[in-house]
Amino acid sequence: MSTHLIGNYKRLDIAFTHGEGAWLFGADGRRYLDALCGIGVTNLGHNHPGVTAAIQAQAGKLLHCSNIYQIDLQAKLADRLCELTHMDAALFVNSGAEANEAAIKLARKFGHDRGINAPQIIVMEGAFHGRTLGALAATASTTAQSGFGPLPEGFLRVPYGDADAVAQLSNTDNVVAVHVEPVQGEGGVNIPPAGYLRALRKICNENGWLLMLDEVQSGIGRTGKWLACQHENITPDVVCLAKGLGNGMPVAALLTHGPAAQVFTPGTHGSTFGGNPLACAAALAVLENIDANDLLTAAGKIGAQLIAGLQSRLGALAGVREIRGLGLMLAVELDRPCGELVQQALDKGLLINVTAGNVVRLLPPLTLTESEAGLLLDGLCPLIENFLKEEA
Ligand code: PLP
Repeated sequence: MSTHLIGNYKRLDIAFTHGEGAWLFGADGRRYLDALCGIGVTNLGHNHPGVTAAIQAQAGKLLHCSNIYQIDLQAKLADRLCELTHMDAALFVNSGAEANEAAIKLARKFGHDRGINAPQIIVMEGAFHGRTLGALAATASTTAQSGFGPLPEGFLRVPYGDADAVAQLSNTDNVVAVHVEPVQGEGGVNIPPAGYLRALRKICNENGWLLMLDEVQSGIGRTGKWLACQHENITPDVVCLAKGLGNGMPVAALLTHGPAAQVFTPGTHGSTFGGNPLACAAALAVLENIDANDLLTAAGKIGAQLIAGLQSRLGALAGVREIRGLGLMLAVELDRPCGELVQQALDKGLLINVTAGNVVRLLPPLTLTESEAGLLLDGLCPLIENFLKEEA
């Protein structure tokens, strides 16, 4: 490992040379079942032929083109994303944090355009929106925020999943938006009660607030729909997308609906790399292949198989607090910190993650087969069982 890398990551002692579908191949000569997908990125699996071909073809034509010119592939991607999500317009950036930053700026300008000069955005306990200053201020983790003050002001925080807590802020001066993850990822794969997003939609409508959804982790098929909010049949005003959109090619988007589409005008926001032809070609291939292979249905089906398997093998164990999931965004919450399970799983050839200290998080590819799902259960369940026995 180079001593010239800044140490902002605690890395596991493994490097991968290549991947194929749900499998990663280590420099140690072993293969690993990837139930994490680079934290929800490679939704189509590794080395997907359709995505690789699109990237190769575009790389031979045009990598970059400034946004001061027309970019045909960007327009096509915007059209397709809006068609699939029922949104009106798209703006392209490069990462989840940047998409969130753009959403925060949009909400503030939406307020300023209406004479609100100190706009406030309602955000959630347990939220994660990224590491840039605005996104970090919207994030709930004091650990992530520590050492980086002063952070931008203008955020009101309420408990996640509690629509009444948001409703209680009705008539509060200067509120312009509610910003929320439909399923919290980093916060512990927290799934709000049914009807939560519909209730937020209603509150936002009544107050003239924007409903902004951070679907960076939950979007692009992860939960079995293009957007997780489609489970509740609502249309938000703003959606942030990243991670799965490029299957590993950095590309992110801000989608808008209704008046939110008119907020940014020439010169108010921009990004040199945002929506470059290479990124757009990759994203178009991702959308096409999810659609062509009916991977939204597959995510729902394999997700249900995994939940049933986890329930039957782990559900009754003392120490397992809850098994939950939506599509292929899955969690086993334990009653104690369990970070060491990540290394133990790696030793057994399985890539998983632990978030919020005690939540085993699984984000396998939407292409996971039934037999691979079986292998995942066979690898993970005994590990959790032994861990709970030894720690008891
Ligand atoms: N929003 C959510 C919901 C996320 O899960 C993440 C990353 O984990 C981000 C934003 C930040 O994305 P990025 O790391 O691409 O900046």
